[in-house]
Amino acid sequence: MTAPRPSPAMQVPLLDLKPQYRALKSEIDAAIERVCDSQAFTLGPAVKELEAAVAAYSGCTHGIGMSSGTDALLAALMALDIGAGDAVITSPYTFFATAGTIARAGARSLFVDIDPATFNLSPAGVERLLREDCERQGGRLVHRATGTVVRALMPVHLYGQMADMTPLMALAREFGLRVIEDAAQAIGSADGEGRRACSIGDIGCLSFFPTKNLGAFGDAGMCVTNDAALAAKLAMVRVHGMEPKYYHQIIGGNFRIDELQAAVLVIKLRHLDDWSRARQENACFYFGAFEKAGLKGVVTLPPALPGARHIYNQFVIRAPQRDALKKHLGECGVGSEIYYPVPLHRQECFAQLGYAAGAFPESERAAAETLALPIFPELSREQLQYVVDCIRLFYAHHA
Ligand SMILES: *Cc1c(COP(=O)(O)O)cnc(C)c1O
Repeated sequence: MTAPRPSPAMQVPLLDLKPQYRALKSEIDAAIERVCDSQAFTLGPAVKELEAAVAAYSGCTHGIGMSSGTDALLAALMALDIGAGDAVITSPYTFFATAGTIARAGARSLFVDIDPATFNLSPAGVERLLREDCERQGGRLVHRATGTVVRALMPVHLYGQMADMTPLMALAREFGLRVIEDAAQAIGSADGEGRRACSIGDIGCLSFFPTKNLGAFGDAGMCVTNDAALAAKLAMVRVHGMEPKYYHQIIGGNFRIDELQAAVLVIKLRHLDDWSRARQENACFYFGAFEKAGLKGVVTLPPALPGARHIYNQFVIRAPQRDALKKHLGECGVGSEIYYPVPLHRQECFAQLGYAAGAFPESERAAAETLALPIFPELSREQLQYVVDCIRLFYAHHA
């Protein structure tokens, strides 16, 4: 039996960027026109302004604009000289770029399962891998089964909530590992101690892909750091390792951010706190509405850690009969998405890493159960309530 649709007219997309643009159109169009008039398209004044502003926003002293979040991760690995024979510990439950860049740098991903409560890298799992599966040989930490040298930790702040950085940093310090924070989904999030995403590890990586909380008009990203020497190296990696012009000290890439993207982002950054607050208010509304609908024992709502700042890039629930629910929501005019249906250790392209099905049960369970619901700032209360009503009707018919 299919559940009915509560209102034939209502539509709730997963994300609609048009209202945000409409509100800032004159300002943004003028900024784009200024770049066009200047015909200075790379690493101009808007890039410098954005780098300073995003670094400050993230509690860092240096920002190095990059062509995407993916390129920010790759540049960070290159700047830390992580390559062939090296390994990086990370989560298998994340967007592909996290492990894709580790492989492209020539290194190997050592996956560790997530904490089911937060979807983020489990510090206990990392500790187990470091203490039980690795050994010191000379000054190096070797992963016994693969013979790789463990060089870094790459925690991901998934969905807009920070990974548990205090124990992860303690382990990194004890074992001499560098830390790259994948904060692509988490600009401006903070942990229970008030520390911003990107300000804790050696390098923080941000994405300005349009679906992130601070979205460009295309691809863009940034590395931020508190280490002046690393900042200089990242700036060099960004332009083919070139310093001075046509003298290449190291091998880098073309990872430049566009001046046009920076001009748009400088304007949008001024509104980011308002948008994050609106996302938090939407999440709050969902918490109340799910409770009133009697759904709290049915679906699992995302955890908000006490004292932490969750910026809700995604609002992700665990739902029984997830695929049927997603189909029902689609028929109701409600957008939803599965982030992510296949954990990275089960991706075809990583088959040679040799992880079997069942290797990371929490990541696999999350991949089977999670569903992201609309949470973008401009949603109305009526739209949010409609999403909950549709979910209530589904479970009333699928008890
Ligand atoms: C979006 C994203 C990236 C990559 O960012 P792009 O700008 O799309 O290249 C990396 N890691 C995570 C967790 C992401 O969500």
